[in-house]
Amino acid sequence: MDFFLHDDPRLPSAWAPWFSHEYITYFSAQTIAGLMALPQVPVKPNPHIGHQIWPVGPNHVDLYKENYREVRKLDPLWSFSYSERNGEFSSEPPLDKTIEPWKVLVIYSTELDLNPDSDLYLHKNQKITGGSHGWRHMQFRLLGRTFGIAPESFRLLMNFAQMALESGNDYWGWRYLSRAAHYLADLGNPFHVKALPGRLLFKYMFSSRKLVPIVSSVHQGYEVYVERRFREGFPPFREALLLGAGEGQAAKSSVSELLGSYMRQVEKRHNEIFYFFLDQFGGELINVFQKMDLESHLDAAEQTNMCSADAARVIFNKSNASALGFLDGITAEILFDVGRMMGTLFDQFSSAKNRKV
Ligand SMILES: [Zn+2]
Repeated sequence: MDFFLHDDPRLPSAWAPWFSHEYITYFSAQTIAGLMALPQVPVKPNPHIGHQIWPVGPNHVDLYKENYREVRKLDPLWSFSYSERNGEFSSEPPLDKTIEPWKVLVIYSTELDLNPDSDLYLHKNQKITGGSHGWRHMQFRLLGRTFGIAPESFRLLMNFAQMALESGNDYWGWRYLSRAAHYLADLGNPFHVKALPGRLLFKYMFSSRKLVPIVSSVHQGYEVYVERRFREGFPPFREALLLGAGEGQAAKSSVSELLGSYMRQVEKRHNEIFYFFLDQFGGELINVFQKMDLESHLDAAEQTNMCSADAARVIFNKSNASALGFLDGITAEILFDVGRMMGTLFDQFSSAKNRKV
């Protein structure tokens, strides 16, 4: 089986274009035979598990992609908004429909980068992560303090998934697990576990006007690069995830126990990637992100997304093609580690399910 997600005939094109989280989840899932073989589950209404301790952003609406109507054909290479797909989806659960658990894991893996974590007040320091969304999706140390709660986000959603499965709402069990896997993948991204190299912090300590476009351009530039490679069907990324997930499945270890070393491992790769972006694309890329308005009411992630197309033009300019080899190599190593964690997680849940059925 040699699909790259966007060419998989089991998935309707109404769900495309596809984004990095979906590719990561898709390749990791393909390796887990016990997950791929699980029978379809009926769509059910949201049981709102844990909504008191884990509020959902006020502007979020659960969309049910099982009920779709294809209305357009977007160009995947130039699509940067998670909410714009080829299809339109229902906000009511289509209770007559069923779906395979692995598909639930894939198609809901970008949901968390829309509204569920945005527009909340979670902590007085959340501005440094760009708002409540970043607060739940990152965790890094800066000047002796810790910012963001992504490991906690992951553990909670994993528990919600377990509770939903135990209560008989398998559909939402897998959908919560998809959200947990999103946080887990974020924790394997260098820019979610470290904000900036120490040297840079001291240089720009008193000038956030200068610092924000630099940090944003490198972080978002890296995301744009990874996503483009997935959409091109870049074999090394696929191989890395398949291999990693296979190893995770075989190891039968506990994701929670591996979490700390997983984060430390990718944190070590941060500076290299950061300085590569500064040296290779420098001013040209930073200029793209000068458009960001620090005082805007918009979520930081939403603002950086608006700069993605221009960032892609800089990074994938022909003159940079040979330099990208460095990023290709280090990213394949990163994705192997991400795949291993995802494989461990998916195997844990599908094995438990298979013991029961
Ligand atoms: Zn995220």
